[in-house]
Parts: sequence; structure tokens; C-alpha cells
Amino acid sequence: MAQKSTCEQLEKRIKELEAKVRERQKYGKELKVSNDELLSTNQQLEAAIERANRMTFNAETTYIELNQIFNTAADGMCVIDREFHVLKINETFSKLFGIKKKQAENKKCFELIPGIECHTPGCPLTKIINGESSPGYDVEKKTADGSIISCIMSASAFRDPSGEFYGMVLNFKDITYRKQMEEKLRELATTDGLTKIYNRRHFLELSGQEFDRFKRYGAALSMLMVDVDNFKSVNDTFGHDIGDEALIVLAEIGKNILRKVDVFGRIGGEEFAALLPETDLNGAVSVAERLRQAIEASCLQTDKGTIHFSISIGAAQATERLNTMGDLLKATDKALYRAKENGRNRVEIL
Ligand code: GH3
Ligand code: MG
Ligand code: MG
Repeated sequence: MAQKSTCEQLEKRIKELEAKVRERQKYGKELKVSNDELLSTNQQLEAAIERANRMTFNAETTYIELNQIFNTAADGMCVIDREFHVLKINETFSKLFGIKKKQAENKKCFELIPGIECHTPGCPLTKIINGESSPGYDVEKKTADGSIISCIMSASAFRDPSGEFYGMVLNFKDITYRKQMEEKLRELATTDGLTKIYNRRHFLELSGQEFDRFKRYGAALSMLMVDVDNFKSVNDTFGHDIGDEALIVLAEIGKNILRKVDVFGRIGGEEFAALLPETDLNGAVSVAERLRQAIEASCLQTDKGTIHFSISIGAAQATERLNTMGDLLKATDKALYRAKENGRNRVEIL
């Protein structure tokens, strides 16, 4: 298309040139300018026009190429002027943010891009205009189906040869997949695959942080250690899969009874632990008793019949004597052992 219009322009110019040559020959005769002089002037003119046409052709070709690169780029792109008006967006931007090109017209960038703090010191674009560096900026958008699109936005300024800022191109790298993978990895590293509550490592890590708070501020802190009674026989009678289901039910009941601030984890096969901040031993025993009763009242329906199960719980409170996580764990474990010795399905303290 551009090549065709350039050829047409060229033909038109040649015709104009021929007309000019004829005209100059006519005036040349009148002005007594030699044919050689006329020829040289015409050749220079012809070369200048040729150069101009070549430049036009190159500019048009470059424009087409850049436009194609812009529209097929893997990253979303948005060009804005110095007043932050959107001048154009590419296909990827359109798909990424669910905005049609027409919708973007006459909008300001913050109307299209979520979370940009327009004209505040935190605005990454203002930073760039002011010559400050602005590292990648996280942008998140909720789509119509509720999923989250995550991008890193980077920006570069357009400046004229005198250094005057006249616009900017914003680049959006889609990192949704990477974020999802990071979240999945974090989940795998911190939660127990079967019951979806914290795994042992994460339970101990979070409990350690709570313990540090207890040491600094001295608020009450207690721990419960829970073990399913005669769980071997559940597995032996109903099978391992049903045993697994029982563990899931137990974790679910535990989550419902405990508070959000409590740290609850599966620390072994059929052993669970809960760290209860701001809770003294009396409080811990009453939580443990509610948990014990809820498990005792629950049942699991299976093809082979209904299963009832029970738990034993050991409780202890952090004190000046029990002032490390290791000490507290040992104390709850001892209390749990006592609960087993004293007949199971009960709560004991140390
Ligand atoms: P006690 O009342 O003394 O605790 O008796 P118990 O049978 O529960 O104790 P024991 O430690 O002898 O057995 C624990 C059982 O828990 C043995 C093991 O097969 C079972 N178990 C451990 N982890 C899992 C698991 O992930 N799934 C299932 N289904 N069973 C498990
Ligand atoms: Mg056990
Ligand atoms: Mg057991």
C-alpha cells in the first residue's frame, strides 16, 4: 500500500520535473542560460527529488514495520502523551486488560491501568518525567471471571532532541503464570497435602515467631498436642483411604473450632498441634475440651459402616520455666502421653 503510493508520488514528481525542464528551457532561451547550465541544475533537482522520495519510502516502510512490531509484541503496550492521555494501545494490551482500542481513546492512563496513583509522588510515570528511576511496578487486574492478571509495568520516556519530554511508552509484562506458580510453590512448602492445614515445618516456623512475641511482651501463650486414638485400628478395619478421610474431617473440625490467630498444623501422621496466642492454660483446656467433644460427636459414613473416633489432647502453657519452643513441645507431648495413659479421649495438662 505504502509502496504503491510512493510509486505514484514518484511518477507524479517525474511528470512535474519534465514540465519544469520544458519551462526552464523556454526561459533559458529568453534569459540566455546555456543548455549545459540548465542540464546541471535539472540533474541536481532530479537527484534531490530522488533523495526525498527515497526518504519518504524509507520512513513509510519503517512506520509499517514499527506498527507491526507494536501490534504483535508479546508484551502489552500503551503510548501516552505528556498529559497522560492514551494515544494508542497494542493488541496484547487490549487482550490483557480486556479493553478494546476504541474504549481506550481519549482516556487517561490511570482510567485503563488499575492501581496507578496518578500525579502522586508514588506515580511511576511522574517519577520518570522527573528524571528519577522507576523500577518495575506491579499491576494487578481482576478479570470478569474473577481471576487476577498480574503484570510488571515499565515505562520509558519519549524526549525530543532538545531533551523535552513529550510522551511515554508503557510496557506490561504478563507474569500471571509466574505468580500462580510462586503461590503454588509457597502453598506446597507450607501446607500439608492431605489436610491443607500447615505442615510441621511451617507450624514450627510460625510458632517460633509467636514464641518470640511471648518472650518480648509476656502475654499468655499455650499449646495443644492432639493425637487420634487407636487410629491404627481405623486403618486396619476400614482401609487407609478412609483413615485419610478421617484425618481431613479432624483438620476441618479443628479449623472451625480454633481462632484465625491460632496456629494449627499437622505435625505427624495422625498428630496435630495448635499454638494459642493470648491464651492461658485454663483457656487452652476449654478449647481442647470443645475440640475433643466435637470429634467425639462427629462420625464418618462409609460403605463399611459409620466410624466414630476420638482424640487425646495434651495442653501446656509457656512459662518462665517452659520458655523455649522445644520445652513447650516436650511439655504438651508429656501431657498427651498422660491422656493416653489415663484412658484416651481426654484432655490432660502439665
Ligand atoms: P494411640 O491411641 O495410642 O495413638 O493408637 P494409634 O493406633 O493411633 O497409634 P499408633 O501410633 O500406633 O498408630 C498411628 C497410626 O496412624 C499408624 C499409621 O498407619 C496411621 N497413620 C499415620 N499417618 C497416616 C496417614 O497419613 N493416613 C492414614 N490413613 N493413616 C496414617
Ligand atoms: Mg500417634
Ligand atoms: Mg494415635
